[in-house]
Amino acid sequence: MKQADHIGYAKLVEPGETCKRPPASEYFGSKTFNKVVMKEKLPQSILAKLESCIDEGAKLDLETANVVAHAMKEWALENGATHYAHWFQPMTGATAEKHDSFIEFSGEHTVIERFSGEQLVQSEPDASSFPSGGIRATFEARGYTAWDMSSPAFLRQNGKGITLTIPSAFISYTGEALDKKTPLLRSIKAVSKSTLKMLKLLGNDTSKKVYSNVGPEQEYFLIDRRYYSRRQDLVLTGRTLLGAAPAKGQELDDQYFGSIKERIQSCMHDLDVELHKFGIPAKTRHNEVAPSQFEIAPIFEDANIGVDHNQLLLDNLRKVARRHDLVALTHEKPFARVNGNGKHLNWSISTDDGINLLKPGKTPAENIQFLVFLISVIKGVNQNADILRSTVATAGNDHRLGANEAPPAIISIFLGDQLSAIIDSIEKGEVHKASDAEIIDLGISSLPVLSKDNTDRNRTSPFAFTGNKFEFRAVGSSQSISFPATVLNTIVAEAIDEVTASIESKNSGDLRKAIFEVLQAEIKANKAVLFSGDNYTEAWHKEAEKRGLPNFKSTPEALKALNTDKAKALFSKYGVLSEVELHSRYEIKLETYATRLKIETKAFIDMVSCQVLPAGYGYQKALADSIKAASEYAPADALAPQKELLSDLAGKIGCIQAGLAGLKDALAKAGDVEDALAAAEFYCNTVKSKMDEVREVVDSIEGLVDNELWSLPKYWEMLFVN
Ligand code: ADP
Ligand code: MG
Repeated sequence: MKQADHIGYAKLVEPGETCKRPPASEYFGSKTFNKVVMKEKLPQSILAKLESCIDEGAKLDLETANVVAHAMKEWALENGATHYAHWFQPMTGATAEKHDSFIEFSGEHTVIERFSGEQLVQSEPDASSFPSGGIRATFEARGYTAWDMSSPAFLRQNGKGITLTIPSAFISYTGEALDKKTPLLRSIKAVSKSTLKMLKLLGNDTSKKVYSNVGPEQEYFLIDRRYYSRRQDLVLTGRTLLGAAPAKGQELDDQYFGSIKERIQSCMHDLDVELHKFGIPAKTRHNEVAPSQFEIAPIFEDANIGVDHNQLLLDNLRKVARRHDLVALTHEKPFARVNGNGKHLNWSISTDDGINLLKPGKTPAENIQFLVFLISVIKGVNQNADILRSTVATAGNDHRLGANEAPPAIISIFLGDQLSAIIDSIEKGEVHKASDAEIIDLGISSLPVLSKDNTDRNRTSPFAFTGNKFEFRAVGSSQSISFPATVLNTIVAEAIDEVTASIESKNSGDLRKAIFEVLQAEIKANKAVLFSGDNYTEAWHKEAEKRGLPNFKSTPEALKALNTDKAKALFSKYGVLSEVELHSRYEIKLETYATRLKIETKAFIDMVSCQVLPAGYGYQKALADSIKAASEYAPADALAPQKELLSDLAGKIGCIQAGLAGLKDALAKAGDVEDALAAAEFYCNTVKSKMDEVREVVDSIEGLVDNELWSLPKYWEMLFVN
């Protein structure tokens, strides 16, 4: 490896460039067909119809669709678009699109631009190659995409091409969801319905709709593109499959919240501008813990839009980084032995009239409402910790969860001291009668003083209450947040329904008493999931086991939770996923896991065979030649250490060769395993562990071999030079 010399600083800042730029408020959402544009482009009656379809989920008639499509097309053409595309989220976890030009023949040799309501509402991408987990084999080969009116269409420029991009659902002809958006929309409906019912019981008649909100904090690395392109592992798998730890890592804590390097901040700036044009409310940016690691967080939004926006954010992050000769790494563990990338999913539920149901209120009544929803979330998570864990089970995330990194694979909830004390007193029955005065005595009425500092201290918890929301920290950085949000909505909907039913059955006139009795019982039944201590410790793992909390350390183990009667019943009861749809997701996730590991193994074998071993042989020869030449002049005992080095190196090379042969053998055997679960388990338990063993030896010779012979960029360069 040559020195880290010629780095592309060219596009940093133009010399003498002033920073006078228009404020974001002037261009925020300028690339979207949002309400402002609609108001300008659509007749009032059409706009009203469209809005009622969006807000109330009514069906859109073709006439309205035609007018909207025409307006969208005019707007798109004015802004340079040539094509339109339904943009959807198949179960690959990425996004997909197929572009169609607006042109249609108007005469024999002439065309005009047209875009009909039918084309807007529905499209057939003939996307039969997307994974369907057997759905399409059993039912119907094709799927179609359907416009999601609740997420604004936008213009996407890619190089020279500008495309009118229409957020869509992807569904089979027999109605099964083939994507990640459809179940999310269903879960949003479910949690809204359950919550409204509870609110009604609590005396709220004003709220008409409930939103689930998401605010994902996205972590990523930025490394120089020149290094990236020389690492097959990064290009093909998103992570380094080998590489020794650098002399300096993150131990000085000098990166976290540190001052941001110029080149990085230029990139962040361009990214923010781009995101704001898409109407994505990017808010916070900072250095993260690991060298070259950063974070971006938006203001939270309605879950459906927030999920779309996180996908668009990832897409823009990759693109903008390239313009700065950087590459954004969003894999959960791009580098061994330094922190990985997570995506903290902040989640809450709120009403259309502005009540955050997870925010402690100002009056005892508001606080009772808060406690009801808080305890419902605790109940939902405790009852379905295994299902929640399965939503973050991916090959990449296995390097965080269950490995020596936060958060652990055990799902537990952190509430903070104040709330824990209140939960304790409810459990002890101290608030059974709960007059306003008693509530005040117990500190429940002083809930509003809960401060962020108080609640946010425990960074080790996978699911922490942080003031007015829960923060699910086990989500992987590269994954879509759709399924985690879908499951949160669904398990909370079920828990709320169960709590509502219990309160109703206990209520014989004194509602408050009934509520506290139910809450007391629920705390007793679900407190195992509450934990305020350090989640990293061995002691917690033991304690969690005693409490019977699930601890699935690997993806194949964790995914089994999607194949249980409990999961089937839960998802079908709320119409979120039918049994067929759920099973397809289970199969696809297993297959994706096995495929990712297969690709990693093949890339690893290639790199070791074609880069590492040749470097090893080269240095071995150089050493041998040197010893031979020197032995004419130097006494034998002076050469002993060199001989030892040579013998050490030769031994390690032999070890790598033997390991590689075993790995190839395991890879071949993995190909013969037919059952999806068995294959995933084989990759996890046999192939992966063999690869890890070889990697260890490979990393140990990296520090022996001549730098000139080592063709792979090293960790110190990738992590510190940018
Ligand atoms: P913290 O310091 O606890 O991480 P921040 O205020 O920095 O909290 O917020 C982190 C993320 O949480 C942001 O994306 C923010 O928009 C989001 N967030 C804040 N409040 C809510 C809420 N009520 N529901 C969902 N997400 C929220
Ligand atoms: Mg946070």
